[in-house]
Amino acid sequence: MPKLPNTLSFRLTLWYSSSFVVFLAASLLILLVLIDAILEDRIDEELIEEINEFRELYKTEGIERVKTEIDLEGKTGDISEIFLRLLTSNGEQIHSSDLTHWEGITTVQSILEKISEDETEILLLSVEFQSQEEETRVAYGLIGPELILNIGESTEDKEEIMEILFIVFTAMFVIAVPIIATIGWFIARKNVVGIEEINRAAIDIKSGQFNRRVSIENQHDEIQTLANTFNKMAERINQLITEMREMIDNIAHDLRSPLARIRAISENALSRESSKEEYQSAAENTLEECDRMIQMVNNTLDVAEAEAGVTEREKEEINLANLIEEACELFEPVAEEKNVVLTFTLNTSCYLNGNRQSLQRMASNLLDNAIKYTKPNTSVDIKLDKDSNLIKISISDKGEGIPTQSQHRIFDRFYRCDSSRSKEGSGLGLSYAKAVARSHGGDIILENSSKQGSTFVISLPI
Ligand code: ADP
Repeated sequence: MPKLPNTLSFRLTLWYSSSFVVFLAASLLILLVLIDAILEDRIDEELIEEINEFRELYKTEGIERVKTEIDLEGKTGDISEIFLRLLTSNGEQIHSSDLTHWEGITTVQSILEKISEDETEILLLSVEFQSQEEETRVAYGLIGPELILNIGESTEDKEEIMEILFIVFTAMFVIAVPIIATIGWFIARKNVVGIEEINRAAIDIKSGQFNRRVSIENQHDEIQTLANTFNKMAERINQLITEMREMIDNIAHDLRSPLARIRAISENALSRESSKEEYQSAAENTLEECDRMIQMVNNTLDVAEAEAGVTEREKEEINLANLIEEACELFEPVAEEKNVVLTFTLNTSCYLNGNRQSLQRMASNLLDNAIKYTKPNTSVDIKLDKDSNLIKISISDKGEGIPTQSQHRIFDRFYRCDSSRSKEGSGLGLSYAKAVARSHGGDIILENSSKQGSTFVISLPI
């Protein structure tokens, strides 16, 4: 097992949590900056509104009323948080509210000059007073000829709100991070559990448990797809191993008989004094058995070669009706011996670009089987026809049929039905035929098989 920091669950959780922390911190920071800007805007709006009201008051009721209003506001408002001053354009203070909390209050001449130029402009700025803990927003505005109103408002309330918000956001952050990390850990584990199960299954299969499968259900995601694919792959591997084992069993079985016979012949020849003719016969029999084994090995190599495919160089245009007739001619004597009639329904315009020799052997293998397994005094029917894309050759016999449990195996190398073991053959004929059909882009199937006989169909693309 990998160490915790190297595990996928840990890394996913770390990624997930750090992304969330960065996102949450950035969001809260942006929110704080925005709220701060909004609150400052509010203060500015209030100051502007106030100056506009004083402008109106001056216009309608004159300077004395303005002074009274300044006194009134000074009394009703908190004098530590707000101040009002009436100035001339050269900075002389005409009137003001109580300025005891606004130590060091001054006026910059350039500001007054700027304000005097435009009677609609209101100038806003932030100023720090020694006697005030927080910044003060200050506004200047011309309310009459040569008459400037200067108002200041402390940002203490705003800063208090910001401080509370900061504490709330920090608390939210501190609480949210462990919760999110825990959720992230569970999500990561949920996904990784599937991968771990696949890993365990792979280890079990490696140690020889070929029937082991991954059991993940209801995940409906990539992990489930991976598990399904893994199971299919394991199934296929298991199937191939079983087939290989059976093939090796079959080869061993098929080699054992000729080898046992050769041994018996040799043993017999050595065990007693024999005549020249007897030794000659023993040597002939040994040769025959050896030829049979060589034939079997050659057939195996031929199947492998056919499976490798046919190159363009080896192909030519072939009239299949002719090819089938030629193949049947070779089997006429065997068929006659069994009193089997070969019947033909051949479409003579079926042409194919293929390898003559291998196609001929493919047809021969099927004909050989059909004649071998059909009952005596019956017929083998051969049909050749085509549609727009496929040429079909069907070969039907009237034999005992192939047992259902063997039907899916007959194309496997060295496979022979139990009932056929007494007959001559190596179990390679059909696998060779199928390999040839496939190397020409086609296939062979056992279309039907019953007690009344079997029909094999070869389909080849035109
Ligand atoms: P074999 O050399 O044994 O004929 P094949 O590969 O040609 O090998 O066939 C495999 C097995 O399929 C045979 O052993 C036989 O049991 C069965 N088989 C093939 N063709 C027929 C058929 N026409 N009727 C019945 N059984 C068949």
